[in-house]
Amino acid sequence: RPMARTNLNKVVESVLSLVQYQINRNNVAIKLNLDTNLPDVLANEQQLDQVLVNLLLNARDALENSPRDKQITITTELRKTDAGEYVTVKVTDNGEGIPAEHIMKIFNPFFTSKEANRGTGLGLSVSLGIAEAHGGTIEVNSTPGQGSCFTLFIPVNC
Ligand code: ADP
Ligand code: MG
Repeated sequence: RPMARTNLNKVVESVLSLVQYQINRNNVAIKLNLDTNLPDVLANEQQLDQVLVNLLLNARDALENSPRDKQITITTELRKTDAGEYVTVKVTDNGEGIPAEHIMKIFNPFFTSKEANRGTGLGLSVSLGIAEAHGGTIEVNSTPGQGSCFTLFIPVNC
């Protein structure tokens, strides 16, 4: 698969141009918080597009029945951890959140809480596979009734 120097801010912007309409027509405000000094990573850009589309459409779905002002925030950052440097893309929504009994299952293939023909349950399992194939991961934090936050980690290795 083609790996190339990729800037995650560019991935965010190109994915947004694809899904912005689908998100905005649900009255969801999108807030961008992009680190202008983000280093490039070595990545398969199409696969990272796929991860971001999945995370953004999941956030949109989680906001569908929200009585609040619907908001999705996308934040890019460089993070230095004990395991090395990572570029992170964090997608935060103030939607329905994830019940405790679901949180261990959401990355399992075919796990979905959505109606048949609305969700395949493959988005997060494929996304985690892509992150891991790049030497990264996806972390989740969620508070039922308040919202969720998914963070994609991609190592900086060039
Ligand atoms: P699908 O979107 O087809 O259901 P995914 O693998 O993308 O499959 O997600 C699996 C499940 O994880 C969803 O059905 C939902 O229960 C939960 N989930 C994922 N993202 C969110 C989110 N942002 N807020 C609330 N629940 C979520
Ligand atoms: Mg999905």
